[in-house]
Amino acid sequence: MRACRLLISIWLRSITRDLFLSMLRGLSRPIRILSIFSVEDFSRILFRTWRADVKSVRLKSETFTSEPRYKRAELTVIEKEALDSASFFHSPRGLLLYWIIGITGIMLAVMIMASAVRAETIKLQGAGRKSFDAEVVSVPFNGKESKAVRLREIARILEGSFSYDGAAKIVEITSEGKTARFLIDADRFIISKRGMSQIAGRTSKPIVLFRGASYIDIISVKTFLRQFHNAALKPLPGRLIQALPLPIRENAKPETVPLSVSFPNVPAASTHSEPAKLNSKLAPFIHSIVIDAGHGAHDPGAIGPSGLKEKDVNLDVAIKFGKHLSDLAAGKIFLTRNTDVFLSLKERVEFAKRHRADIFISIHSNSMSPPHGRTASGTEVYFFSAPSDNEARLAERLEGGPFDPKAEGIDPVLWDLMVAGNVVESHKLAYSVEDLLPSEIGLPKRGVKSARFYVMYYGVVSNIPSILVELGYISNPTEEAKLADAEWRDRAAKALASAVANYLRDLERRYPSGKGWSR
Ligand SMILES: [Zn+2]
Repeated sequence: MRACRLLISIWLRSITRDLFLSMLRGLSRPIRILSIFSVEDFSRILFRTWRADVKSVRLKSETFTSEPRYKRAELTVIEKEALDSASFFHSPRGLLLYWIIGITGIMLAVMIMASAVRAETIKLQGAGRKSFDAEVVSVPFNGKESKAVRLREIARILEGSFSYDGAAKIVEITSEGKTARFLIDADRFIISKRGMSQIAGRTSKPIVLFRGASYIDIISVKTFLRQFHNAALKPLPGRLIQALPLPIRENAKPETVPLSVSFPNVPAASTHSEPAKLNSKLAPFIHSIVIDAGHGAHDPGAIGPSGLKEKDVNLDVAIKFGKHLSDLAAGKIFLTRNTDVFLSLKERVEFAKRHRADIFISIHSNSMSPPHGRTASGTEVYFFSAPSDNEARLAERLEGGPFDPKAEGIDPVLWDLMVAGNVVESHKLAYSVEDLLPSEIGLPKRGVKSARFYVMYYGVVSNIPSILVELGYISNPTEEAKLADAEWRDRAAKALASAVANYLRDLERRYPSGKGWSR
């Protein structure tokens, strides 16, 4: 053992000094560098002194230079051990091993880099049915490694958009007007196009989320793409694929279904309208708007304290709403009923389907049982989703009970996927109504809410904006008086029409000429 004292004169950045000293102390071999000129050479110093064994480093003196960020420090480094020339890595055999390890490491690095460049790929049919190379990776499905393709990669080859909703665990890929929706950990997906019935399919393994990315197993990827390309044309039969027709019997009694009312396309008579608006109505790509007046005939709906029936209010507002909207919207407007007749919820859904509704709006009036019924007040707008609060649950029961996908023979997972897809546009339409209607009719806003109304069944299945409006509380005498007032109802109808028109304007802005919107 040989110890000697070395004097190192060194320029140190004050902030790195402690780190530098602690690293010097950590070295385990005799130091070989006698002088260090600057800390900027830090890495070089460490490299050259890796064999030094520094017993201790003492700070001899510190002086400040004119440059305040720098300090001049004199260090004393005490060497603990002399270089052991007999150490293994300095023997010929050791050196050979040293070189072998080094060269093997470099070769491994080159091989890994080469394999990253030449990753395994699969030929898949992407956008325009052209062939694309998609990267194949190995990810764990239920703990077992298996080959898969990233869903973002699928969106890329389809030249579409990709989105992931982390809260709902839903992956959405949109391309050429069609949307595919996957649920993490579920082996089912749906393909939808607005206004079309949706196609459901199965994957052989559940979609997996691995290190922040979602993957579809390699066996299912081609099946999925084939189905995606053919989805709107003819749903493919097959074991993995299951078409989802609307389970509505076509032999529903025709005499109970009233004729639709369509209003003549007469330009608005208002002198306030801009000239351009007179001959061009809103959103020509919205072909059909279905307005549904709740209840009817032997089903009066809620009844007010002085005997006003919900069915009559709903019908009058719906008819007036339809007339006002026909002045603004380019599409045809259909009423599920224009007289006091009874229609089951199923028949209303079938009506929307038969008229290929692009927008569905159901009109109702709210009610609450005592003791709160007389004071409950305001307008609510609903879209289809899980009930947002207890009042939503109440409204659900009031308007025919919660929709149960299982009772309709629909897989609940698929139903949830369809609901998730339907929320976005329905929500926008609901807010458009919420923005205008309550203030126009002088009622408080109770908010945009969600509940599982049966009557929106078609809206969800066909992925069209669908809402249910509760105008006001018929159980509240003050609001009952308003609902009974024909002039007030006309104001409500006008506000509804303006709100839908605002939504149509927004659609035109987001989907110029309807491109990307519909069937
Ligand atoms: Zn109702």
